[in-house]
Amino acid sequence: MIDTHFHSRVMRQKGVDPGEHLKRAFAEGLVCAVDIGTELGDLEERSGLVAEFDRVYMAAGLYPSYAGAEDLPSLVAELETSILEHQAASIRGQRPRLVAVGECGIDLHWDFADTVCQQELLELQIDLADRLDLPVVIHSREADDPLLEVFRRHSPKRGGILHCFSSGPEMMRRCLDLGFFISFAGNLTFKNAELIRSSALQVPMDRLLFETDSPYLSPEPMRGRPNHPAFVAHTYRFFSRLRSVPMEELISQVAANVHRIFSLP
Ligand SMILES: [Zn+2]
Repeated sequence: MIDTHFHSRVMRQKGVDPGEHLKRAFAEGLVCAVDIGTELGDLEERSGLVAEFDRVYMAAGLYPSYAGAEDLPSLVAELETSILEHQAASIRGQRPRLVAVGECGIDLHWDFADTVCQQELLELQIDLADRLDLPVVIHSREADDPLLEVFRRHSPKRGGILHCFSSGPEMMRRCLDLGFFISFAGNLTFKNAELIRSSALQVPMDRLLFETDSPYLSPEPMRGRPNHPAFVAHTYRFFSRLRSVPMEELISQVAANVHRIFSLP
């Protein structure tokens, strides 16, 4: 099983030891995980937290909360510099491989910044991903229309992932048409998640991913506890029952999808 989205640094901030949990997760059947960035300058610290694991990859991006800043292009230029430094160190074997730009996107649930500023910050990061030949990891909250507006103007060349997909089938269809992968998190298992489940019932198997978004959003029956990558198994099992797909088939299909989107060997 693979957790395509977790946050080692936030886990540690919440008093959860990411190394300990990853060790346990790999012993329990996790084969790969992607540590996702939200902040400028967090790559070195996150790399240190996951350094001992060969199959933990990195992403780096600026969360929509940065969209209120004065000079968005220079922020993204700083992000680019940090990614290039990371990639150089990674080639020397000193840092885990970086496989995506993100998470970035639009969040209209919180009052981060104007929609237009959030769209600009997202588009700058899609540009960056295109320059680096990487996919993007997209965060979307209450922002379907403004997000589609950006994608129609500028759809990422190497594709991307709608992380923690929480919208309905219509939004999903539009994103699939643009080439995106759909990643389901623990909220798929929540009692009131009919809308998400209606998407999960229709998602094509070759565009499907799973994630924990650790330390947030623990799936049932772990809801309310801090999440960690091993809990992705609950979301896999839930989906396997929902779609009547055998677990082995689901696991190998999702692994193939992960390899495709992140260009893993
Ligand atoms: Zn996240």
